[in-house]
Amino acid sequence: MSHLDSSIKDIHAALVAKEITPLELTEEALKRAHEDKSNAFEMICDEEAKAFAATLTEPEADNPLWGIPYVAKDNFSTKGIETTASSDILTGYVPVFDATVIKKLKAAKAVMIAKSTLDELAMGGTGTTGHKGKTYNPNDPSHGRMIGGSSCGSAAAVAEGVAPFALGSDTGDSVRKPASYAGLVGMKPTWGRISRYGLFPFAPSLDHVGYFTRDVYGAAVLLDVLAGRDLHDGTSSEKPVEKYEADLDRPVKGMKVAILKDIVDSITDKGLRRHFDASVKALEGEGVTVDYVGFGRDLLSSLYATYIVISCAEATSNDANLDGIKFGPFRGGKTYQEVMYNARTKGFSEFIKRRFVIGSYCLMRENQEELFLRAQRNRAKIVEKVNAILKDHDFIYVPAAPGVAPLFTQVSDKLSDEYLMADNHLCLGNFAGLPSITLPLCYENGLPIGVNFMGRAFEERKLFQMSAAFERLSGLAETSSSDKKEARL
Ligand code: GLN
Repeated sequence: MSHLDSSIKDIHAALVAKEITPLELTEEALKRAHEDKSNAFEMICDEEAKAFAATLTEPEADNPLWGIPYVAKDNFSTKGIETTASSDILTGYVPVFDATVIKKLKAAKAVMIAKSTLDELAMGGTGTTGHKGKTYNPNDPSHGRMIGGSSCGSAAAVAEGVAPFALGSDTGDSVRKPASYAGLVGMKPTWGRISRYGLFPFAPSLDHVGYFTRDVYGAAVLLDVLAGRDLHDGTSSEKPVEKYEADLDRPVKGMKVAILKDIVDSITDKGLRRHFDASVKALEGEGVTVDYVGFGRDLLSSLYATYIVISCAEATSNDANLDGIKFGPFRGGKTYQEVMYNARTKGFSEFIKRRFVIGSYCLMRENQEELFLRAQRNRAKIVEKVNAILKDHDFIYVPAAPGVAPLFTQVSDKLSDEYLMADNHLCLGNFAGLPSITLPLCYENGLPIGVNFMGRAFEERKLFQMSAAFERLSGLAETSSSDKKEARL
C-alpha cells in the first residue's frame, strides 16, 4: 500500500520519520493523477507542485499538513493557473490571486497537485455537466456509476488514492453527497467559518467551502488551518478558531441525537435501513439518547423547490459578470449586447441556461412575491424548525443519500417522496448555515453508503467528537477506500 492510500495522520508520521519526502510523495501523486481513469482533473499542476515540494526539506512535526499533497476543485482561484469551473465561459481565465483557502494551505505547506472537475459552475449533483463530460465513480470500475456532484473530481481523486484530501464547495450538498457515494468523510462547517474569498460564487447565501478526507481526524485538523476571519470576506466569522481535534477521543455518553423520521421513512433501500438501524443501536450502546422526530412532510417536500428558486435566483444575479468582457473570452459582436449574447450563448451548456431562465423568472418583478420572496419565507420556516430541533438535541442524524451511487442511466422520479425528501435533505445544512458532516456507514456490493450528522452553529468541535465516536463504531477509518469493504454496522 502506498502512503497516498492512507490518512493525513499516517502520511504525516511517514513524512516526519523521513520514510518518504514531500517531493517523492508529490511525484507519486502526480503520477497517479496522470493515470486517473475517472476524469477527475481539469489541470494537473506538475511543475508548480514539484517546485514547491522541493522546497520542503525540514519536516515540521507539529504541522500536520506539511508536505501533504492535495487537490482543489476548479472553482477556487489559483494564481497563474487556469481556472474554469468546468465551464466554457471561463476558457483561458487565469486568476491573478489565490483564494484564501489556497493561500492558507500553501502557508501550511500542503502541496496542491491538481485542479479537479466539477458540474459546470458548481451547479448540479451528478458530476456529468462540466465541459469535460462525466466524472466516474472509482468504486465501480465498469464506469457505470456517478460519483455525484458538483465536487465530483475532488471526491474521485481522494477515492482513487491520488491525494488524502481535496477541497470542494457545498451550496446544497455538493461535498456531502459525493462523499457518501465515494466512501469518504465530507465536511462543510458553519457558514462564515471558512473564508470564501476566491471561491467562485454560485449562491452566496448558501455557499460554503467544504472538503473530503479519509477520516475524521483529517477533517478536524484541516479545519484548524482553513477556519478564521478574513478581511477579504466580510461574511467570514470573527469567532476564534478552535483546536478542532481536541475532543476526538472523548466519549459521547449523554449526547442527544434527533433522527428525522420522515426522511428515514422515505428510504426504500432495505439494506441501508438495516445498517442505519444498526448504527442507531450502536450509538445507544455508547450512551447516546436517540429520538425520532417529525419535521413535517410538507416542509420537507418543499426543500427542493425552495432550494432551486433561491439558488437559481442568486446564481443568475452573480453570474451576470460572465459576459465576455469582464470575464470570459470575446466571441464576436459589436455592441455590448451582441458580445454578451455570443459569449453566453456559446459559453454555457443548456443545463446552466435552464437554471438562469428559472432564476430570471423568479426575480421578475411580477413573479418576485409569488416565487422568490415566498421561497425566502419558506426557508425561514425550515431554519426555524431545524433550530427548534437542535435546541433539544446536539445533532440531527440521517442517511446522507437514499442509497448507493446511482447508475448514469438511472433517472429518479423527481416528484417521488424518495427524491424530494431522501435525496435532497442535505440542503437543510445550507439553509441554516450549520456544520454538517458525511461519514461512511457501510458498503453494499462494494459500493459505499454514508450518513450525515448536523450540529449547532460553530459547534464543529463537538460534531467531530461525535463523528470520531461514529467512526470507531463503523470501523471505517484510516484505510484507503479500496480496502473499506468490511463495515461493522
Ligand atoms: N446538487 C445541488 C444543485 O444542483 C447542489 C450543488 C452544490 O452544492 N454546489 O445545485
